[in-house]
Amino acid sequence: MKKIRNIIIASLLYTVCSNFAAANPAKDAWTQLAGDAVRFNHAALEVLKDYPEIIINDLYTFTKANHAKWQTRPGNVHYNPAGKAAQGDEVAKVILSELPSAAPQIIIKADDVGTRGPIIQPSWQRFVDYIEANDMKASIGIVTDSLQNGHEAYYQWIRDLHDSGRIEFWHHGYDHSHERGVGKPTWWEFKNTDYAAQKHHFERGMELAEEKLGITFRTFGSPYNASDATTVKVLEENPNMRIWLYPPNITGSSKLKLPRIGGVNIEQRTGVIKFAPFAANYPAHADEDVLVLQCHPAGWDEASWSEFEQIVDYLKAAGATFTTPTTYFGI
Ligand SMILES: [Zn+2]
Repeated sequence: MKKIRNIIIASLLYTVCSNFAAANPAKDAWTQLAGDAVRFNHAALEVLKDYPEIIINDLYTFTKANHAKWQTRPGNVHYNPAGKAAQGDEVAKVILSELPSAAPQIIIKADDVGTRGPIIQPSWQRFVDYIEANDMKASIGIVTDSLQNGHEAYYQWIRDLHDSGRIEFWHHGYDHSHERGVGKPTWWEFKNTDYAAQKHHFERGMELAEEKLGITFRTFGSPYNASDATTVKVLEENPNMRIWLYPPNITGSSKLKLPRIGGVNIEQRTGVIKFAPFAANYPAHADEDVLVLQCHPAGWDEASWSEFEQIVDYLKAAGATFTTPTTYFGI
């Protein structure tokens, strides 16, 4: 999603005129009387009082302090090159100060906690330790059948990370199932499956998170990022679910969407991080407001870890900040 924000800046009239009208009574269009600027600015401020979203740039006060050295001659409404340059610099300064920071926010979408059952894998521990040590935030998708018949230590590990505010856990399906059809249609947990199955898998995951973790999931990302119109309907039916990671390109969903931008993938294939192609493609997407970077830390070898650390250092140097889906949307 591109940074689109309307910025309205009203500049107060900066003509500081004392006797122009008296000197040039015939030039009606340009005639100003001493004090007109003050009166016009006052009237403008009266109107603008009802529009607090409009930022006011007080060029009148800015100019008045330098009027003697910037005016072309006494009483004239125009300014010399030094005055015009200073006024231009001031306008640019105010606009720049209102623009959002240049670098995007980064949401790390780390998939698949729980695919090996209700255990705290060392690879996941290393990932969350890294996030904390580097003062970052990230999001982790749970395969929710790991919340059935699990161990208290696993649940507590999730709760503690959730409570830290650094990690947002999200709904990554119930069993992560998928079958490549041989002589029959291919299906995924949330694509090409029927309503009853999708509804059960989605709602069971929500219930398990409430029951075992005391957490209400606000964010969903389907296994394999595969979903269809049935998934749209199932999500619409649950008002607690607010955000969809990598949603399908179909209409009808009112959920907040965090789409995939293929050019900035950090894994070139599942579990394999590469810095160079990311760094080559990032500048073309540096004007995005948010980039959602999918990864699978449980599968990283030392080489991928090293590449991941390079990506984080690169993003930090570029001024990017790391957030979570709910924090990004202010939920
Ligand atoms: Zn997955």
